[in-house]
Amino acid sequence: MRKKSTLRFSHIFLLFCLALAGAGAYTLLHDMAGPVIALVPESPERLGPAQPLELSLSDDSGLRSVQVTVRRGGRAMTVLRRDFPKDVREAKLNFDLSETRLPDGAFELEIKARDAAFAGFGAGNSSTLTLPVRMDTQPPRIAVRTVPPAIRRGGSALIVYTVNKDVRETGVRSEDLFFPAYKQADGSWACLFAFPYQKTTATYLPEIMAKDDAGNITSSRLLINAIGRDFSSDTLPISEKFLSMKSAELARLCPEKPDAPTLEQYICVNNGERLRNDAKLLELGQTSNPSFLWKGKFQHLPRSAVKANFGDARTYTSGGKKIDHQVHTGLDLASVARAEVPAANAGRVIFTEELGIYGNIAVIDHGLGLMTLYSHLSEFRVKPGDEVKAGQTVGTTGITGLAAGDHVHFGVLVSGVPVQPLEWLDAKWVQNNISSRLKSGR
Ligand SMILES: [Zn+2]
Repeated sequence: MRKKSTLRFSHIFLLFCLALAGAGAYTLLHDMAGPVIALVPESPERLGPAQPLELSLSDDSGLRSVQVTVRRGGRAMTVLRRDFPKDVREAKLNFDLSETRLPDGAFELEIKARDAAFAGFGAGNSSTLTLPVRMDTQPPRIAVRTVPPAIRRGGSALIVYTVNKDVRETGVRSEDLFFPAYKQADGSWACLFAFPYQKTTATYLPEIMAKDDAGNITSSRLLINAIGRDFSSDTLPISEKFLSMKSAELARLCPEKPDAPTLEQYICVNNGERLRNDAKLLELGQTSNPSFLWKGKFQHLPRSAVKANFGDARTYTSGGKKIDHQVHTGLDLASVARAEVPAANAGRVIFTEELGIYGNIAVIDHGLGLMTLYSHLSEFRVKPGDEVKAGQTVGTTGITGLAAGDHVHFGVLVSGVPVQPLEWLDAKWVQNNISSRLKSGR
């Protein structure tokens, strides 16, 4: 019995080895296809010298080599050549054509890859991707039509300009913040941008940029008089009563510290959750209607008192001790409890949700990146997609989010960046800085 079972085992083992060898031979001999080649951008019509190109290669038998060649007028130049070590099945390679110094005009881009299969008496299979492309070395040229003489810290401005070719991306950049421009019916570009309140006249260095579809970029300092502005400061005591009222919400919004004392959770929410919420608003602000949806005057909560201003440097205290510091980025307006909140101007509702520190928040898009937000609402009267008229009720004031008393936190955003609402509430400022600029650009 025992001998028989050993015999059976050796049979099985032999069969297993044969199957393994067969499978190996099959992959070695039956891989008759070359590597799969993919390029990003996929099939570019035009390429600039600095356009980053990403080459992806894959092959089941492993990659052997790749060569990228540029051909023009009977001449060839190797841009990239790589031999792969054993068993590399996938590879991503980045390159550009800056070394080629090709002049403007037609050329051919050839990508030839070889695999490690046994086919072709050991030479492997090859595949070739050949693309007819045009070299374009000309960066876009920007001509400014109108720009206001000055922009104030925390404020907004509108610039109208033309670009001499099709562009993929254009707008005003202030370090890591980008204010996209929107193409107008006459072909010009209109860009609403901000002097972010975090910047000073010394650190605010806006640039106007345009990038074409060949990857050529123009970027230059935007010449505008940046005027400083000091913001006021205030103190916000955090009471025990407030903390106990918000304890469940604070615990929910600070998943990092589920068992910490409520005051500690408050500080956690006022920092971590605030950052997450503001990142969400920044993301919302990057997609807007390409033309203005509003006209005439902007309005805020009628018969209300301003409880806090934009830019207030706010010190939070508890038991007389400083516990936190943040900048207030809107106007706090209070009237009666559950007062009806009017839309500041005509636009389209893009967001009505609960958003952390802001509680129930409604965001209206007014076009060109201009948005207004209404937060701590007790109730929404609109929903995303609604077209609203100026003054139409958006919702009612409340205490949702981190609000202690019934009010609306009214904010104005330019491409998601909070700006001084008082400018937009000033009809004369709007006329001089926005409306008249857009008209003169038409
Ligand atoms: Zn507020």
